[in-house]
Amino acid sequence: MSFVVFDLEWNSAAPGKAGVCENHPELPFEIIEIGAVKLSAEVKPVATFTANVRPQVYKKLNKYIARVTRRSQASLSQGDPFPLAVSKFIDFCGNDVILASWGVSDPQVLKQNIDYHHLDTSFFNQALNLQVLFAHMAEGGQNSQQRSIEYALEFLDIETDLSFHNALNDARYAGRILNALLLKNKTEAERKATLRPYLYDPFLQREKSWQTAVAAGRNAEATIREQEFICPACQRHLTTDEAIISTKKQKRWSWRLNCEKHGRLNCVISRRRHEGKDIYHFKLTLPYPPNGD
Ligand SMILES: [Zn+2]
Repeated sequence: MSFVVFDLEWNSAAPGKAGVCENHPELPFEIIEIGAVKLSAEVKPVATFTANVRPQVYKKLNKYIARVTRRSQASLSQGDPFPLAVSKFIDFCGNDVILASWGVSDPQVLKQNIDYHHLDTSFFNQALNLQVLFAHMAEGGQNSQQRSIEYALEFLDIETDLSFHNALNDARYAGRILNALLLKNKTEAERKATLRPYLYDPFLQREKSWQTAVAAGRNAEATIREQEFICPACQRHLTTDEAIISTKKQKRWSWRLNCEKHGRLNCVISRRRHEGKDIYHFKLTLPYPPNGD
C-alpha cells in the first residue's frame, strides 16, 4: 500500500459574456497542472510529480485563475497535451495506490478531463477525501465544516514553509496532514483499519438529480413512491423498508434507500409550486464516508 496525494490547477471559460460563448458544459474545468507526492506505507514522502498541461479547450487563462495560481498566459503554451500528462501521472502512481486529495473536486475534475479525452478511468479505484478524514479525526466528525488546507495545517501545528496554490506544494501539504492524522497508528495494519471506512471509488457516479411535475395538491408520499429509484453508480433498482421523513411544512423530505452493491443512499426531495403544478426535485447521493452518516 502506498499513497499518492494529488492536487490540480485548472482553467475555465473567461468570466462574463465572452466566456458564456466558449463554455463547454461537458468540460467546465480544464486541467493545466498536476502536482502529486507519493507517500510510502509509513506515510513518508518518497517521490514527487509535477506536470504542466497545455489546454486545448480554454486556451486563454481566466483572470481569476491567473491571480490565484500566479500563472501567466505564456506558461499555458508550455506543457504536455493532457493524454500524455495523465499517462505519465498513471506511471508515477503505479499499482496498489490510494489516491488522496483535499475534498472531492480534484478527483471529479480529473474524471471529467479523462472522460473528455475518452481515456480509461479504471486505473484508480481507491481514493481518500482528506478534508472529511481531517474533519472526523481531528475535529470529531463535524463534516459539515469544509475546512481549508491552511486551517488544517494550523490546527495540526504543521510547518508552512512552502507557497500555496501551486499544485505540487498543495499536494505536499495535504500529504503532511495525512501523515499527522495517522501518527498514532504504528503499523500498516492499524493505518489500513483507520482508513478503511473512508476509502471510496473516485470515478463512481455518486449523484443523480431529476424532477417531475404533477397536478397541484397531489399526495406527496404517493408521488415520491411511484418514482423509479436507480443507483447512480451501477443502475441497480434501489429498495427500502424505511419511512419517508418529512419536514413540518411538508415541502422537503428525505428517504434512505439501499443498493445491493453500494449500500445505503440518501434521497432528498423538495417541492415547489409553479404554474399550477407541483414540481418535485429529487437528489440521490451515495454518502461519504461510504458507511457513515
Ligand atoms: Zn449501486
